[in-house]
Amino acid sequence: VASFGPLDLNPRSPTYGCITSTPKPGWSDVDLVRPIRQAFNVPIGFDTDVNAAALAEWRWGAAQGLQSFVYLTIGTGIGGGGLINGQRMHGLIHPEMGHLRIPHDLAGDPFPGACPFHGDCLEGLASGPAFIARWGQPAETLPDDHPAWRLEAQYLSLALVNIICTLSPQRLILGGGVMQRQRLFPLIQ
Ligand SMILES: [Zn+2]
Repeated sequence: VASFGPLDLNPRSPTYGCITSTPKPGWSDVDLVRPIRQAFNVPIGFDTDVNAAALAEWRWGAAQGLQSFVYLTIGTGIGGGGLINGQRMHGLIHPEMGHLRIPHDLAGDPFPGACPFHGDCLEGLASGPAFIARWGQPAETLPDDHPAWRLEAQYLSLALVNIICTLSPQRLILGGGVMQRQRLFPLIQ
């Protein structure tokens, strides 16, 4: 079972299998695992949507054979997951890489950010909704030569540098709707 977070992933917690507090209406405290366990007599794994995508990259995709990698999705939100030394990064909670704080030059980009919690965290500056809020149109309608792409590449690069410096992954994999734009990847590189 894979879901958007935040999730309770601690098997010893009484609320294991539940979504915790989310701004998405009607989803706080919803138990995702118990109804499926009651309906099907099968083993159940439970993790974030982005960790499930990361495990799929590890099993079938761009992370095959690696012990340490990070998968980052940039779309309606930004989230990261992956493996470090062959283990998922479950600790206090699960990684919330979308909410990394990165340098924000307000003179060059006065947009205050779109994250309801932090304003100008990574997700607030570089997610799909941030495109709409900053430029008045979704990323997919902006032309290749629009300044939005260089700014987007700058923010994503700063986030990736932080991830490299803290987790030392052998590979970074970028996915999600915003990354469908071919021009973006070489700008980040
Ligand atoms: Zn945030």
